[in-house]
Amino acid sequence: MLPISITRSETLKQKPTDESKLGFGRIFTDHMFLMDYELGRGWHDARIVPYANFSLDPATTVFHYGQAIFEGTKCYRRADGGLQLFRPQDNLARMSRSAARMGMPELDEETALEGLRKLVELDQDWVPHQDGTSLYIRPTMIATDVMLGVHAAHHYLFYIILDPVGSYYKDGLKPVGIYVEDEYVRAVRGGTGFTKCAGNYAASILAGAIAEQKGFSQVLWLDGVEQKYVEEVGSMNMMFAYGNKIVTPALNGSILPGITRQSVLTLAGQLGYETVETKLAIADVFADVKSGKLTEAFGTGTAAVISPVGELCWKGENLVIGDGKIGPVAQKLYDTLTGIQYGRVEDKNHWVLKLT
Ligand SMILES: *Cc1c(COP(=O)(O)O)cnc(C)c1O
Repeated sequence: MLPISITRSETLKQKPTDESKLGFGRIFTDHMFLMDYELGRGWHDARIVPYANFSLDPATTVFHYGQAIFEGTKCYRRADGGLQLFRPQDNLARMSRSAARMGMPELDEETALEGLRKLVELDQDWVPHQDGTSLYIRPTMIATDVMLGVHAAHHYLFYIILDPVGSYYKDGLKPVGIYVEDEYVRAVRGGTGFTKCAGNYAASILAGAIAEQKGFSQVLWLDGVEQKYVEEVGSMNMMFAYGNKIVTPALNGSILPGITRQSVLTLAGQLGYETVETKLAIADVFADVKSGKLTEAFGTGTAAVISPVGELCWKGENLVIGDGKIGPVAQKLYDTLTGIQYGRVEDKNHWVLKLT
């Protein structure tokens, strides 16, 4: 593990006073963690410094060829005031897998985890207290060679920034409406769908904007080849409850292997639900909602935790799922998962990393 130097900020920012208005992704803390990579030398200069702008040459490769990947994990405050992380090692391991696909260097996960811990400890007063709030942690890696030409870069920057957040959606656990995209696709097998690379999100923005114009909060992506099978939502994996059976699309290379997805599948099994990972046709989902077999739909992801879906629109047909409230399966999984994350429920699977 690399040594990590710490340079404290001389002037601290004003912290948000109203935790009910934190929102998501707009406020950043006093410090950030940085680490550089150079081919032949490896990762070096691990450091925590005051949060500040980067100065990058306009020819920096990330701006042109998009070697950029990120992660998202959270720090939670327990009722006793202590702080804990949820499976951060899994995020860093996934980042190394994203890096490999993008021709970027494998992350020094040990130093990154230590940097993450030290950064959160230094900025710990920024972790909010109110129910449902947390400190969102955004590790990022970008290519920093200065040259034009499509090649794997020789220089990279890894950094972590922190963002105190409230609920991902303005309306909390209220079911959201989702637009099933049947023109554009997000990812194909052999592509980068399983990575958290910036380009996946760039490719999704137009469809998201169109869905929003039509009054839906997110896009549900179908497979990129036949546009028949359910893949996932913008930043969430999808699950469907058939009574006590939970069905989710199997990981196939184009779906992001969510840590929340995996945690929910494990917890669901432990809570006595049957879980099935399979290829799931959107036509069957629609038929099963209409026949009443499919009782709940919800998304899973770090940012939104569990987000019930109350309406699906596909090829102009609107389907209502449930009665406008979160269903019992999603509620049980939400309570159990957030219970573990906030230290209210026993962590039988050893997912929590306590900081203080
Ligand atoms: C981040 C993300 C998810 C959820 O992953 P978690 O590890 O549960 O946060 C799902 N789908 C996409 C496309 C994502 O970017």
